[in-house]
Amino acid sequence: QRGTVAFVGLGVMGREMARNLVEAGFDVRVFDVVPSAMEAARLHGAVPAVSLSAATAEADIVVTMLPDTPQVEEVVRGPDGLLACPPRGRLLVDMSTISPQATRRLAGELAAAGVAMLDAPVSGGPVGARNATLSIMVGGEAQAVARARPALEAMGTTINHVGASGAGQTVKLCNQLICGINLQAICEALALGRSCGVDLAQMREVLMGGSANSWMLEKLGPAMIEGDASAGFRIDLMLKDLRLVLEMAQHENVPLPGTSLVASQYIEARAHGEGANGNQALFRVYDRMSGQ
Ligand code: NAD
Repeated sequence: QRGTVAFVGLGVMGREMARNLVEAGFDVRVFDVVPSAMEAARLHGAVPAVSLSAATAEADIVVTMLPDTPQVEEVVRGPDGLLACPPRGRLLVDMSTISPQATRRLAGELAAAGVAMLDAPVSGGPVGARNATLSIMVGGEAQAVARARPALEAMGTTINHVGASGAGQTVKLCNQLICGINLQAICEALALGRSCGVDLAQMREVLMGGSANSWMLEKLGPAMIEGDASAGFRIDLMLKDLRLVLEMAQHENVPLPGTSLVASQYIEARAHGEGANGNQALFRVYDRMSGQ
């Protein structure tokens, strides 16, 4: 037995990551505010808990995979949270993408209660989560990273300790900035290519053989060309990430004109009801702009 992990947040990413922990031999207790989200995890061998503290109290490590900063704050500070009821192993690994500043505040509050916190956001999407091939960017104390490493290795293949508390989130937000602008660049190329009448599927293949290749072009290109907007990573989550990037940039007085522009396009997408669609639905902004 490799220890007990409480896994909180069983959405698109969390349910796959929890399953990989079970398969790696951890005793996994799961909690989600939506009870049905726990059922799939039960089938994979995890044990659903009736409350947050029922999942976390006896855990060696608590992992959170939640949408945004307020939900992680709730899990830490809420009446049933980790400050009120510290987990046995006194270690929280937050794998959600949230604010670096809020992360440092939470880590400080938890440290005062004798609980270590790592920020360990991920890149690789639902397929990376399913295949346990996520790239994980970790911020926090080295000793806590060493304790968390076996669990992290059950979920990802590239695990890097990038600095003190908040550094993992900072690197992740830099990752998201590149993903957003890269996706916008692909939308522009597809809009122009379509208008000029080239075969977009062939164009993608050609571009993948040269210096314009990217993860986005490889993984999301086909859905963009086919007009498939179904979700993996939702528009509203990417918009949340770009907002976090711009908040950090403002705090640091760093101009990010490219990110500002693409964030406006994501706001346009959400205003047209695309919030629950996949990230690649940014192409619909270009459809509308070009009257397609
Ligand atoms: P999701 O919305 O599918 O899942 C979030 C889950 O958290 C839901 O099941 C929800 O019911 C649950 N939840 C919300 N509040 C809760 C609370 N207070 N207590 C317990 N459970 C609660 O989101 P996702 O796509 O799995 O993403 C999770 C995080 O990972 C986000 O921060 C996202 O930005 C990040 N991320 C997502 C992807 C992706 O491709 N989907 C990739 C990398 C990182």
